[in-house]
Amino acid sequence: MKIEAYDVVVLGAGAAGLMCASTAAARGKTVLLIERNKKPGAKILISGGGRCNFTNEAVTASAYISENPHFAKSALSRYTQWDFMNLIASYGLTWHEKTLGQLFCDQGAKAILQVLLDECAKVGVSVSLETEVSNVEKTDRGFLLSVGQKAIEAHQLVVATGGASIPKMGATDFGYKLARQFGLRIVEPRPALVPLTFGESDVQAMKELAGVAVDTHVAVADNKEHPSFRENSLFTHRGLSGPAILQVSSYWCPSDVIKVNLLPDETDVKSWLISARDTYASSTLKTVLSEKLPSRLAEQVTSDWPGKMAELSNASLDNVARRVGDWRLKPVGTEGFGKAEVTKGGVATDALSSKTMEVKKVPGLYFIGECVDVTGWLGGYNFQWAWASGHAAGQAV
Ligand SMILES: Cc1cc2nc3c(=O)[nH]c(=O)nc-3n(C[C@H](O)[C@H](O)[C@H](O)COP(=O)(O)OP(=O)(O)OC[C@H]3O[C@@H](n4cnc5c(N)ncnc54)[C@H](O)[C@@H]3O)c2cc1C
Repeated sequence: MKIEAYDVVVLGAGAAGLMCASTAAARGKTVLLIERNKKPGAKILISGGGRCNFTNEAVTASAYISENPHFAKSALSRYTQWDFMNLIASYGLTWHEKTLGQLFCDQGAKAILQVLLDECAKVGVSVSLETEVSNVEKTDRGFLLSVGQKAIEAHQLVVATGGASIPKMGATDFGYKLARQFGLRIVEPRPALVPLTFGESDVQAMKELAGVAVDTHVAVADNKEHPSFRENSLFTHRGLSGPAILQVSSYWCPSDVIKVNLLPDETDVKSWLISARDTYASSTLKTVLSEKLPSRLAEQVTSDWPGKMAELSNASLDNVARRVGDWRLKPVGTEGFGKAEVTKGGVATDALSSKTMEVKKVPGLYFIGECVDVTGWLGGYNFQWAWASGHAAGQAV
């Protein structure tokens, strides 16, 4: 049997794999990019509601979750958000900041994917779609891959098969299985950037508010290590979603309580309520809070206190302050991998070189992108990790 041979085989034509393949081929390597889907870049196409939040202006290692919080620094500093902006600008693409440094492509996600495909085509990357690798074997000369009836030799093998989120878009656990085959540890993969679900009584109340979005400050309660997030929360028929909740979901562990401040502009909610009682003595609490909250939400949170402001005791205002400024909720779970934007966990970073993404004990084998235990916040950080880790490996193979 004739064996095809390549300097580099990259598994997975997503964000990280496309970047890695074009970077390696630009250095003169022969590169084969293998993808099991009919088309490459499925997640790029649906990202950011079709507009692709391709990076963030303020990329920093602290926006990434990993067992080793320093691991991402090297790759992120060697291929930055500005490098990616320069790349897409060279194709005439433009972008705008939506909020919090999040950059979206004016020409849409399809245009971003086209840049990556053109970069691959320009330097002669071979792409094999609808292709499944059934077995990988280490040999003296690199790796032997079984692909249907064919065998493919890779002197170097890069695994860019992504995380476990959204299985219907092609996500597989292939990367994790391969890592285990080579003796690597996997940090338990968990859904992240995912809506949270609640018990029946909470959900009943949330259902009545389904569709209401509100500016919030949200954090895992009683935890000083994790960051808190000031963004919108959204009530849904199943629980809570919206950017602030998605961000916190990446830090949430079963049995944790979350705290939601519905009045994030008030530094001391109780003092503000006491002064509002003096100013608006004859108004109801609902009317006062409706100035700051969507009226359906104001109505629900004030239902225990229907009277006039003047009638509310300090103790009652204390309860109101807790209800709106420090609302404690215990999620029962998340909406799972089917709805998670990313997977937290993955190939443990202690086995990898942070400079090249190569497995220290298996020269020639690399893991990049979401299948590695590096998870970014919402806001373009996950793509930036895919570009940066893909570029790091592409420079090293
Ligand atoms: C709905 C949604 C919206 C998102 N929006 C954004 C956003 O706006 N900004 C942002 O930064 N991040 C966003 N993300 C996250 C981002 O898409 C991922 O972090 C990023 O795509 C990871 O890149 P990757 O190349 O590591 O993996 P992927 O993009 O998942 O690519 C992996 C590829 O490997 C292929 N594959 C899997 N198994 C095999 C196998 N055995 N053989 C061959 N191929 C295989 C898959 O089909 C896939 O094409 C979003 C995610 C989702 C689900």
